Amino acid sequence: MPLNELDVPHDAIAHIATFLPLERLFEAAALPNAHPMIAQIELRRRIQVALEPYISMSTFIEFMDILRSCGGAITGSVVRELMLQNTPVRPLRKPANLNIVTNFCMEGTLRSLLRSEGYTSTVLDHQQNNGHVDLVERFVKRCDGTTRCIILSVSKSNAIAAVLSTPFTAQMCVITHNSLISLHPKSTFANESFVVEGSERKATLADLTFEVVPDNAHWTEPCGTQCPMRWRKTPDDTGAAIYSWAVEEGRFTSWGMAADDGQAFLYEEPLVWRVGHRCFNRACPNMQLYHERLAYLFP
Ligand SMILES: [Zn+2]
Repeated sequence: MPLNELDVPHDAIAHIATFLPLERLFEAAALPNAHPMIAQIELRRRIQVALEPYISMSTFIEFMDILRSCGGAITGSVVRELMLQNTPVRPLRKPANLNIVTNFCMEGTLRSLLRSEGYTSTVLDHQQNNGHVDLVERFVKRCDGTTRCIILSVSKSNAIAAVLSTPFTAQMCVITHNSLISLHPKSTFANESFVVEGSERKATLADLTFEVVPDNAHWTEPCGTQCPMRWRKTPDDTGAAIYSWAVEEGRFTSWGMAADDGQAFLYEEPLVWRVGHRCFNRACPNMQLYHERLAYLFP
């Protein structure tokens, strides 16, 4: 007798979920027989796989608990590679290291954990810091004939301030102890990045795993919350994509309490930012308004 969709067993659905892109993963929970937290369980698995080269899996829970207590997050190329998994878009190169960011003066326990994992560290020259980063420390260890590298950035205030101080929108994505957050999901899922107007650019393009685009002229749909000229704010930001993942054996863990819907990381500090003062998308009302305003100011 042929199977219908109601007969597909939950373990087969869990297997199918491993092939879904992140953007579609949360739709899998609506399938008959699917575990209601299938998306969180699969995202947690992907995060574990992504971290395995850097953190031994026996310390995964401890690592995430420390990340929670230091207000920290994983950021950078490892997060983007995970976001692009199972999509036709590929990062330009493999991540060279794992980036972690923490709140001011909260990195001590994390440093101890990394040393117990066999890492040795050096504090990098203060020239590497920008106005929102207090300290950058490079952790390395040799493992299976390769060098594993973790870059720890300690914010001068909260971790979110350091994340938003990057010149590239593609770097504004994090994995916290309970969520994956992308502040510019439309461009990041395309592996594209805008450069934030007026920012200092220290990275050379050869180091980047994403493509830097000059503007959003290639967009064809109205920008909505993703408009580069729209002012954004960390509390109640409507432009962010947030995916929760903190489940263990099908239940939310103590890190992923229902009271924290993933916004807590953003709430730590009220900040405003935007990419620039212009939108170049012809389908966006903001671009049309800009041109109307120019015609009025400079007839
Ligand atoms: Zn726009």
